[in-house]
Amino acid sequence: MTTGVTTAYIGLGSNLGDRLGNLQAALKALSARGLEPAARSSVYESDALGPPQPDYLNAVVSVPTSLTPRELLEALLAVEAELGRHRGQRWGPREIDLDLLLYGDEMVEEDGLTVPHPEMTKRSFVLLPLLEIAPDLDLPSGEPATAFLERDPPGIRKLGPLPLG
Ligand code: ADP
Ligand code: MG
Repeated sequence: MTTGVTTAYIGLGSNLGDRLGNLQAALKALSARGLEPAARSSVYESDALGPPQPDYLNAVVSVPTSLTPRELLEALLAVEAELGRHRGQRWGPREIDLDLLLYGDEMVEEDGLTVPHPEMTKRSFVLLPLLEIAPDLDLPSGEPATAFLERDPPGIRKLGPLPLG
């Protein structure tokens, strides 16, 4: 087996507390674990789906990594816990949400881990920042990610750069 570096895409979201500070703290915590973003999207604000709750800030980063998908998910969950995410209702408000969107061209279907993230192609608040940093990206299925983007998605506002803090 070869040990290589794979580009993973990670989605960040926050709609509780200091939302921008939470995104920045997540980047810092990822870097501390050797997960150094190669590219960072702008920050997008979007109306929350699910139960009534505050608007979200979202961003996407690309991270070169030699971790396996499972190890990477574990790192993301550990950072969520470190930043004080309290797991409540599904799709409920959260200080920080870190999703493994893509792991190179790999498709993973395991207990508690599905890659590509099953909701990503339905969510413009993920696709917009993803396509900002990877405009020509193809999904593992071979389909271009742009094929899934709605024209003028409602309720999403591009704010500005995601500072490292
Ligand atoms: P969501 O992000 O879909 O709103 P959660 O963050 O609460 O929901 O989801 C948590 C669970 O989803 C995690 O415990 C994890 O095991 C599972 N999961 C499956 N695939 C992924 C993935 N690609 N990225 C992040 N979590 C995933
Ligand atoms: Mg999540």
